[in-house]
Amino acid sequence: MPFSVGNRVLLHICCGPDGTVPWPDLQGEGFDVTGYFYGGNIHPRSEYYLRLDAVKSVAEEWGGRLIVPPYAPDPWFALAGHLSEEPEGERRCSLCFRIQLEAAAAVAEAEGIGLMTTTLTISPHKDPEEINSIGREVAESRGRIWIDRVWRKKNGFKRSLEECGRLGLYRQNYCGCIYSLTNRDDVVGKPCSVGKAPSCGAGVSDTEI
Ligand code: SF4
Repeated sequence: MPFSVGNRVLLHICCGPDGTVPWPDLQGEGFDVTGYFYGGNIHPRSEYYLRLDAVKSVAEEWGGRLIVPPYAPDPWFALAGHLSEEPEGERRCSLCFRIQLEAAAAVAEAEGIGLMTTTLTISPHKDPEEINSIGREVAESRGRIWIDRVWRKKNGFKRSLEECGRLGLYRQNYCGCIYSLTNRDDVVGKPCSVGKAPSCGAGVSDTEI
C-alpha cells in the first residue's frame, strides 16, 4: 500500500522489556506507534505466550495499536534451522534479524505505514549497526523508510531495566529460539528488577554498555 510520509511508524518489538523505551520515546517525538511482534523465533510455545503478555503490557501502558500474527515457528525453522549449530551472535542471528524485519516490512506495506524501526538495538548483546543496516535494506525493498536508532544509548538500556521492573514484566533468560534455550545459563525466568537484565542483556551491567 502506498503512503504519504506522516508520523505513523511500525515498531518491530522483539520483546516487552526491550519495548519499554522505544515505544514511549517515539511517541514523545510525535510518532504514532504501531507495534509488531513477530514471535516465530520464540520457542517453545509456552515461552512465546509469556513474552506476548509482556508485549501486550507495553502496548497497554503507552497506548497504540499492536499487530500480532498467529504464532508460526515453522516458517522460521524452515529459513534458519540449517544454522542451528551457529554460535549465538553469528550467522543464524543475522538471518533471524532479517526474517523478523522482512516480516515487519511486509506488514508496514500492507498497513500503509511508511516508517519503520526496531527495539532490537537496545540490547547490549546485539550489533546496532548491523541491525540498522538490515532494517534500511528491508524497508527500502518495500518502499518504506527506516528510522535509524540505537536505543541503548543515553541510558536507554538502564531505563529499560527500570521500566521493566516498574511494570513487573516477564524477564526472559535466553534470547528466544530453541538453540539459544539449549545454550542458556540455568536460570529460571522471573519478573524484571532493576539491576537485572532481560535476556538480551543477561549478565551485562549498565556500565558495560
Ligand atoms: S539466538 Fe536470538 S537472534 Fe539468534 S537466532 Fe535465536 S532468537 Fe534469533
